[in-house]
Parts: sequence; structure tokens; C-alpha cells
Amino acid sequence: MSEVLVVAELSSDGSVRKTTQSAIHAARRINHLTGGSFAILVAGGESAKASAEQLLNYGAGRILVCADPSLSSYVAERYAPVVASAAKGFDVVLTAASSFGKDLMPRVAGRLDAAYAADCSEILAEGGQLVFKRPMFAGNAFGFCSLESKPQVVSVRQSEFEAAEPSGGQSPLEQVPVTAPGAAAQRIEFLSLDQVKSERPELAEARVVVSGGRALKEQFFQVIEPLADALGAAIGASRAACDAGYAPGDFQVGQTGKVVAPELYVAIGISGAIQHIAGMKSSRVIVAINKDGEAPIFQIADYGLVADLFQAVPELVTALRARKKA
Ligand SMILES: Cc1cc2nc3c(=O)[nH]c(=O)nc-3n(C[C@H](O)[C@H](O)[C@H](O)COP(=O)(O)OP(=O)(O)OC[C@H]3O[C@@H](n4cnc5c(N)ncnc54)[C@H](O)[C@@H]3O)c2cc1C
Repeated sequence: MSEVLVVAELSSDGSVRKTTQSAIHAARRINHLTGGSFAILVAGGESAKASAEQLLNYGAGRILVCADPSLSSYVAERYAPVVASAAKGFDVVLTAASSFGKDLMPRVAGRLDAAYAADCSEILAEGGQLVFKRPMFAGNAFGFCSLESKPQVVSVRQSEFEAAEPSGGQSPLEQVPVTAPGAAAQRIEFLSLDQVKSERPELAEARVVVSGGRALKEQFFQVIEPLADALGAAIGASRAACDAGYAPGDFQVGQTGKVVAPELYVAIGISGAIQHIAGMKSSRVIVAINKDGEAPIFQIADYGLVADLFQAVPELVTALRARKKA
């Protein structure tokens, strides 16, 4: 039997991020494998209770709410003591391996002196013990590990755990007090959040992603944006395109960027280095446009077009627009 605590991730406006539903999916999977139930921890500012109410019908045994002005903006040093304190008595503490999860969970594991399995792509059970599958070496190998501590601290890959659907019912809310932060938090002051506002879908959650590589140079947005608009897509980029300043750093897809698994991934002027592929190979349909027919991206593409992108992409946009009108 595993009692699981899911740590909810909130947006700055208090809405629950879809990563939370992915973590709930993983918690349900653990309960399915070993029995037990799951709870959700919602930590945030005064509006945390309203955030928690968005999760009432996901089948949690209870929802722990820690609402305190000191938690109104996410700071790992303030959140980690709250999560660590709430985690006592649970067998597994779980969140998605988003930037939030990657930042928070090592600190939680440290405070609990607990073992940590990060970025898991599958959860299995062997002899009553949980086994976590983790991609290693840019996804070229998988490691399987089980954790010996209580609780076990885990983050799961959002692209491998589809967002859980509501299952009905009404979970009870339980207030938990804020835990006094340690000395580290005294040295941190939250100044401001500089957030890029976009009408586009969130990269890690989009159904369609159009990504551009180094080949686009300064014309990155000029070429990619019309295609992304025509497809209702989020925009991604290779690390080379980000490092060169053609695209912002948070567009990066890959081993050291975001991991995405959309229904359609369009790679434009991207060679297909293993570090890039590590972040998008689980996409359902992959389309590549590259002028080099030998580019490695074609080895994993479902549809490939050997062409100059500066000619092919505008033609594709014109065709898509014409099709929409018809
Ligand atoms: C530790 C480590 C971590 C890394 N993490 C990441 C990561 O997270 N994400 C990532 O993307 N990379 C990552 N990299 C970098 C990775 O190895 C590659 O260097 C990078 O992905 C290359 O980006 P690119 O395909 O845009 O550029 P290039 O490799 O330069 O490829 C450009 C491609 O564009 C094509 N092209 C050029 N002109 C045109 C044209 N006019 N029309 C059509 N096609 C054209 C070329 O044929 C070529 O295939 C990492 C590297 C290391 C060492």
C-alpha cells in the first residue's frame, strides 16, 4: 500500500497548472500498482484555497491547503519546508518534472534525507516495491531504480503521463499551517516575476509544436510564426538557435530544455542531434524540413521534406491558409 502526496503546481494567477494533473495520473498509477490512496498539497498565498477547489473532483483522499502570504510567489527555500513537513507519514511525494518540480524536489529530498528519482518516464512494481524508469544519456538508455527511503521523492515526465481527468466525488479540504522557513529563506527576497505573455499554447502542453533551428538565423520569428499561427502551435527551438539569440532560452527543446510530446512536431532547419531528439522523440507525428537529405532528423521523422526552408515554409503557410479558407 502506498500513500502518495501530490504537490500541486500553481500559475502566478492561482490557476492549477496541467503538470498537476500529470502528477495525479502518476499517483493513480502507483495506487493501481500497490493499493493505497493519494492526497494533494496546494501551497500558495491567500488564494490557495480557491486553487485547491479546482482539484476537488480528482479522487484525492484529502487536499491539504497551506495558504500564507509568504508563499504567494514561488521561492524554493520557502516551499521546500512546507512540502517536507506535509510529506511526513506518506510513502511517496510526487510532482511533475517541470521547472517547478526540478527546482523544488531535490531540496525536499534533502530536507527529508530521502532518496529521489527524478524525471521518471514510467512507474512499475516488482515484489511489492515501486520501480521507477528513468531516461539516461539523452534518452539513449533507461535506468530502473527503486528507492529505499520513506518517503520516496519522485518527479515524473509530463510528456509520459497524460493529464488525469476528473473522476468525480468531492475531496475534503484540510488546512495545514505554514512551516517556519530555515536560514536559507531569510537570505532570499522575491523581487518580481518577469513573465513572457503569449496567446500561444504553453510549449510543454501544446498539441502542435513548430520548432526552428540555427538555420533560421535572425529570420527565426519571421519564418516560424506564420506557420505556428496557421497550425495553432506553440513555438520551440534547438539549443543552437537559443544560444545564438534567435529564440528565447525558454523555447529550447531537448535534453537541457523542455521535453515535449505533442501530436504533431514540425522541426525546421534542425539537424536532429541526440540532445534535441531527447526532448521530442515521443511526439506522435514528426515532420522535418531540412535541405540536407542526410540530416539525422530524417531517421526519426514520419514525414520529411528535403528543401530550402526559406522557400518551403512560406509555401506551406500559403497552402494551409488556402485550405482553411476553402
Ligand atoms: C550537454 C549538451 C546538451 C545539449 N542540449 C541540447 C538541447 O536541449 N536541445 C538542443 O536542441 N540541443 C542541445 N545540445 C546541442 C546539440 O548537440 C546540437 O548542437 C543542436 O541541437 C544543433 O542545433 P541545430 O540543429 O539548430 O543546428 P545545426 O546542427 O547547425 O543544424 C542546422 C540544420 O539546418 C539545416 N539547414 C541549414 N540551412 C537550411 C535551409 N536554408 N533550409 C533547410 N535546412 C537548412 C542544416 O542542413 C542542418 O541540418 C546539447 C549539447 C550538449 C553537448
